[in-house]
Amino acid sequence: MNGRVIIVGANQASLTLAEFLGKGGLDVCVYEKEKRENVSYDWHDDMHPSVFDKVGIPMPDSSIYFPKGDWSFVSPDAGSVTRIYQDKEKVDLSIERRKLNDYLYNRARQYAQFYYETPVSGVITEGDKVTGVKLHDGTKISADLVVDVSGAQSVCRSSLPESLRIQRQTNKGDLFKAYRAFVNRTPGVPAPELHTNKAYLKHLGEAGISWCIWDKPSDTVNVLVGRIDELKKQDLDIAYKALREDNPIIGDDVVRGGIMCTIPVRRPISKMVADGYALLGDSAFMTIPMLGSGMASGIVASKILSEVILQPCGEPFSVENLYRYQVRFMREMGARFSGVEMLKNWLLSAPSDKVAFLFNAGVMSEEDLKVSCVGELIRLTPVSMIQKAIKGRKQLPLLIKLSMLLMRIDKQIKIAENIPDKYDEDKFVDWQKKYSKAFGTEI
Ligand SMILES: Cc1cc2nc3c(=O)[nH]c(=O)nc-3n(C[C@H](O)[C@H](O)[C@H](O)COP(=O)(O)OP(=O)(O)OC[C@H]3O[C@@H](n4cnc5c(N)ncnc54)[C@H](O)[C@@H]3O)c2cc1C
Repeated sequence: MNGRVIIVGANQASLTLAEFLGKGGLDVCVYEKEKRENVSYDWHDDMHPSVFDKVGIPMPDSSIYFPKGDWSFVSPDAGSVTRIYQDKEKVDLSIERRKLNDYLYNRARQYAQFYYETPVSGVITEGDKVTGVKLHDGTKISADLVVDVSGAQSVCRSSLPESLRIQRQTNKGDLFKAYRAFVNRTPGVPAPELHTNKAYLKHLGEAGISWCIWDKPSDTVNVLVGRIDELKKQDLDIAYKALREDNPIIGDDVVRGGIMCTIPVRRPISKMVADGYALLGDSAFMTIPMLGSGMASGIVASKILSEVILQPCGEPFSVENLYRYQVRFMREMGARFSGVEMLKNWLLSAPSDKVAFLFNAGVMSEEDLKVSCVGELIRLTPVSMIQKAIKGRKQLPLLIKLSMLLMRIDKQIKIAENIPDKYDEDKFVDWQKKYSKAFGTEI
């Protein structure tokens, strides 16, 4: 196939897409603002190994990952700690991100041209069609397709014309701001045996989470404090101090990270494509809203996008063809993620004592937490409903609210899955409004 594709950003979803499209015969150029060795985080994050098989990429060398430990969830009032025992086949791998990036880059580089330290400042458009990108130094480069994989705060997305109905800026509540550091284990303090991976939900009653994880292979402590929208220095200091008091293993020396970072924690963007343009990965908000995990969904979405382009229905870079990618993504995972955002929003806005009750009384069971950990939704069976009603009988109004929420989530998922099969502007706009309505937005 002929055609020139520009990919903006060079983290994992971009690299897999570059490989797939380059192999398909397209002329692929990747522009990344960072130096090659600085792309991605200097730490490990979690992803299920099945992703590699799903997109047809062999597993990287086992030296770059280890199995993730099981979470223990601390309730908002610290009244209970629930440890989960994840099913073996669902256990994630903690993967060294820069080594994963090296692995994917080495596969992709024979099929694409890479330009590092080359920031893009926006897209070029002719009417509603994207025709290329503008580099930071003013150079204009034309392309048949621009794929924007430049993250949640993409400058390409924000430079699009409003008429495209693609959300340009993020809304309040869309982003999670976190401090992440790997520190030494305090000398003389023994490593935890049972609760190695502790997550603090609504830590100190705030809208966010904190965690303290003992990393056995490196004997370091992985600490995170995160809040929705903003993490003020004073709130970070208070939360970090509280974490240290509860986890004396947290030492004084930062050995990796120690930086502020941003993760989108919202439903996928309601419009992912235009003529000559597609959004992928965090720039399309493809993370699982409850967890902020976006590596797997981005890589799988890159495979879907490549298939849609390489086996087109009509003109490959037209909105009509590219739209098939959005439909597949929504039905495979995006619809579910939009339901997960509703659950997350509810948990964050509910009073802490109510959320604490759900954990402390066991209404939120180990099984519920196990499914939540892998980005799935809690499913109520008649038996589990009776069990929850018995455990939560002291807070029946709360239980009723929770079951009504679960019904609204089911409805949202159905709306999202009912995205029109083919691109028709009027029908799409109608769907877009319905999809966004539960979140109080138009697009
Ligand atoms: C603390 C933390 C923990 C996380 N844990 C996990 C986890 O356990 N599992 C998981 O799956 N995910 C996790 N994530 C989320 C994960 O990092 C993202 O979902 C994922 O990296 C998104 O990948 P992406 O390919 O969309 O690109 P991004 O990671 O968003 O990278 C975008 C790239 O574009 C480049 N870029 C940006 N602007 C420009 C520009 N103007 N011109 C050129 N280049 C540009 C950037 O330099 C960057 O390299 C975590 C994130 C954080 C912050």
